[in-house]
Amino acid sequence: MTYEKHFYDGAWQTSSGNESIAVMSSATEQEFARVPRGTADDVDRAVKAARRGFDSWSRLPVEERAQWLEKLAAAMKTRVPQIAEAIAHEVGTALGFATKVQAEFPIMMIGMNAKFIRDAKLEEELGNSLVIKEPIGVVGCVTPWNYPLHQAVCKIAPALAAGCTIVLKPAEMAPLSAFMLAEAALEIGLPKGVINIVSGSGRVVGEAIIAHSDVDMVSFTGSLQAGRRIASVAGDGIKKVCLELGGKSAFVVLDDAPFDKAIPAGVNNCMQNSGQTCSAWTRMLVPRARHDEAVELAKAQLAKLTLGDPFDRNTRLGPLASSGQRDSVLGLIEQGKKEGAVLVTGGGRPSHLPTGYYVEPTIFANVDNRMAIAQEEIFGPVLAIIPYDTDADAITIANDSPYGLAGGVWAGTPERALAAAKQMRTGQVDINGGRFNVLAPFGGYKKSGIGREVGPLAIEEFFQLKSIQR
Ligand code: NAD
Repeated sequence: MTYEKHFYDGAWQTSSGNESIAVMSSATEQEFARVPRGTADDVDRAVKAARRGFDSWSRLPVEERAQWLEKLAAAMKTRVPQIAEAIAHEVGTALGFATKVQAEFPIMMIGMNAKFIRDAKLEEELGNSLVIKEPIGVVGCVTPWNYPLHQAVCKIAPALAAGCTIVLKPAEMAPLSAFMLAEAALEIGLPKGVINIVSGSGRVVGEAIIAHSDVDMVSFTGSLQAGRRIASVAGDGIKKVCLELGGKSAFVVLDDAPFDKAIPAGVNNCMQNSGQTCSAWTRMLVPRARHDEAVELAKAQLAKLTLGDPFDRNTRLGPLASSGQRDSVLGLIEQGKKEGAVLVTGGGRPSHLPTGYYVEPTIFANVDNRMAIAQEEIFGPVLAIIPYDTDADAITIANDSPYGLAGGVWAGTPERALAAAKQMRTGQVDINGGRFNVLAPFGGYKKSGIGREVGPLAIEEFFQLKSIQR
C-alpha cells in the first residue's frame, strides 16, 4: 500500500523531494506503507492549483457542487474495506469500529454536506442591504492521526460545499485514507484543483500551507501545542483560523443517577479508540459517598473490553498508534502513581502482547483534579475517577480544566442533568446517555479551540459575508 506521488491539479504529481515517510502498523510495529515526504515547493504547486480551481468551483451552481459531493461519497463507499484496514494498522482501531466509525461514518458525512448546502440560505435582506455568503477561498487543512478520514472530511466536505477549494496535509502516522480520497476524486473526475493533497511533516508541509499567501483560511485539528504555532503563523498572514484542539472532558455522575447504566457508559466513552479520542470523557466525577461503588462498576466494565489485535473480531481495544504515544501514556501513568492516585487496574504494558504499541486499559481512583492525570490530555486508555462532595463542587471540578471540548452528565431526571449541563463550559454535553448527533456543531471552549465542525452550521465557517447596499 504505497503511494509515491502527491495529488494536486487533478492528477498524481511527482514530489520535488526524494524522501518518503514509513507508515507503521501499530500491532506489528512493522512498516506497512509509504507516502512521499513533501516539500515547500510541492505545497506551492498544490496551493496554486487550488487557487486556479477556486475560480470555477466557487462559481458552480450549488446543485452541481452538491452532486459532486454525492459522487465523491459514492466512490469512497466502494473503498470502505481498504480504508478500515489501513486505519486499523495506522491507529490500532479495532476493525469493526474502524469500519463503522473511521470509514462509513465520515463517508456518510460527505453526502450529508450535499444536503446541507442545498438547504443553506445564502442571501438575506437586512434593511437596505443584500447580505451574501461567499466562499472564503483556498482552505489549508492540517489533520491528526486519531480519526484520520473523519478529521479530513470535517473540513473538506463543508469547505467544498461552501465553494472553497482545499489543500490537505494528513498526519504522517495515518495518511493513507487521504490518498484513497484522492483516488476517489480522480475516479469521478472531480474538477482540477478542488481537492489537493500533499503529505509530509507538520514543520515543512504544514507550515508551508499555513504561511502560503494564496491560502485564505486555515482549518487545523491536532494538539494544543501545534495549534498555538499554527494560530501564530496564520495570524501573521491575517488569515481566518479554525482550531480543533485537545480535551480533558468530564463526565459528571450525579448522586441520583442509575450507576449501573451511567458508569459503564462513561467507561466505554473514555476507552473508545483506546482513549485516542479528543472528546473522550477521561475524568469521571462521582459523589464521594458512592465513589467505591463507582470504582467497582468501572472496573467490571473495563474487564469486558478485550485488549488485542485490531484484526481479531473479539478485540474492543487495540494498540496505541505509535511507540511515542505509548511511551507518553506510560509516562503519565507513572506520574499518576507518584502523585498518589489509587491504581485500580492496568498501569503498564500487557505481558501477553509483547509486540505492538499496547498499553493496559487503566483506571485511577481517588484522583485529585489538580493531579497531572486530571489536567493533561493523556490520549490513551486511562480513566481518572474523581470524588466530589456537592453538585456545585462537581461543576467547579468539571470546569477546572484548560480545555472545554465535550462532557457528559447523568442524573436521576433529565431536568437535573440539563441544569448541570448548562453550567459546563464546554462545546458539547451528552446528558443521560444522549447519542452523538451528526447535525450538532462540534468544537471547543477555552483551549480546545476556535470554531465548529460537523452538521449544517459547519459550512458557515467557510463563508465570507458581503453586504450590498441599495
Ligand atoms: P499534532 O498537533 O501533533 O499534529 C496534528 C497535525 O498537525 C499533523 O498533521 C502534524 O503533522 C501537523 N503539525 C504539527 N506541527 C505543525 C506545525 N508547526 N505547523 C503545521 N502543521 C503542524 O496532533 P496529533 O498528535 O496528530 O493528534 C492528537 C491531538 O489532536 C490531540 O491533542 C487531540 O485532542 C487532538 N484532536 C482534536 C480533535 C478535535 O476535534 N478537537 C479531534 C481529533 C484530535
